[in-house]
Amino acid sequence: VDSGKVAIIGSGLIGRCWATLFLRGGYSVMLYDVISEQLGGAMSAVVEKLRVMEKEGLLREGQTAEELAKRVTSSSSLKDAVEGAVYVQECTPENVSLKQKVFGELDSLADDDVILASSTSCIMPSVFTSDLQHKAQCIVAHPINPPHYIPLVEVVPSPWTSQTVVSSTMDIMRSLGQSPIRAKKEVNGFILNRLQYALIMEAWRLVEDGIASPEDVDQAVVEGLGMRYSFMGVFETMHINADGMEDYCKRYGANITEVCKSQTPPRALGGDTLATINDAMIKKIPLEKLKEKREWREQRLAALVSHTAEMKSQE
Ligand code: NAD
Repeated sequence: VDSGKVAIIGSGLIGRCWATLFLRGGYSVMLYDVISEQLGGAMSAVVEKLRVMEKEGLLREGQTAEELAKRVTSSSSLKDAVEGAVYVQECTPENVSLKQKVFGELDSLADDDVILASSTSCIMPSVFTSDLQHKAQCIVAHPINPPHYIPLVEVVPSPWTSQTVVSSTMDIMRSLGQSPIRAKKEVNGFILNRLQYALIMEAWRLVEDGIASPEDVDQAVVEGLGMRYSFMGVFETMHINADGMEDYCKRYGANITEVCKSQTPPRALGGDTLATINDAMIKKIPLEKLKEKREWREQRLAALVSHTAEMKSQE
């Protein structure tokens, strides 16, 4: 079955990932890029990604990379890309004025039904959709890299996004096999990065205040928090770490509030602390080894995906 046409606007790192997810989800995909020479390479990269997913057993039953690859096309015309699309995923570089320009162009080409979604990691949708005729159809669907291993998608509406667009976007993300969460209203940093930045800031503070070495702070996450949080959330962990949530808050709540009073104000990420943390990281992973380490991380994520799938099948 063909679920319809999806247009991917911007065929870089994230555009290519979205293309493979939509193909696996049963959509046909048209890639568009302002640099048309880039499209050939992007098409081959998508096909290669599909092959890897096939090898790793990440395609759906009965699907082959070869068959899915027949459903991806490209165009150097934005009009062709958007024409007949049920869903548009914008994946251009993270820059406010560019997003405003691209959404302005999409607005002039959109019909009254298409969903216009942005992959932006942190720009609030109201910032680039306020003047548009189709602003009720605009939304953020923020993936986490690499999205074929990390299922979370943050769905962030602006104040004027229609509820139908919010729920259809959530449904489409689920149909791709992703796990969408929904921000009830837009906020700087959305959800995931607000959590991540709180942790980054405290890690920084612990080093800056001479409490712990960068290596030990990282170890606290890898050998401690991260172990739990890879399969159980913050609230669920609280709930089972005492006799339920209420008991947890009764026992530990006051101290948590007290500790958090000492966690302000935020620090600037620079100066001597940056030098200390940078030295520690370079010692661990020299810059020329970053690529290798990224590949290693992808392999470990693939193994974690199989583990999580097995865990869910037993639930
Ligand atoms: P990228 O630089 O790899 O790709 C951007 C692509 O957009 C390029 O191919 C470029 O030629 C094209 N482009 C530039 N101007 C354009 C225009 N006017 N019309 C059409 N295409 C245009 O960037 P990326 O890493 O894929 O990021 C894209 C978006 O996804 C950003 O908003 C980013 O914040 C978000 N995002 C990135 C990641 C990540 O880890 N890279 C994760 C989540 C979200």
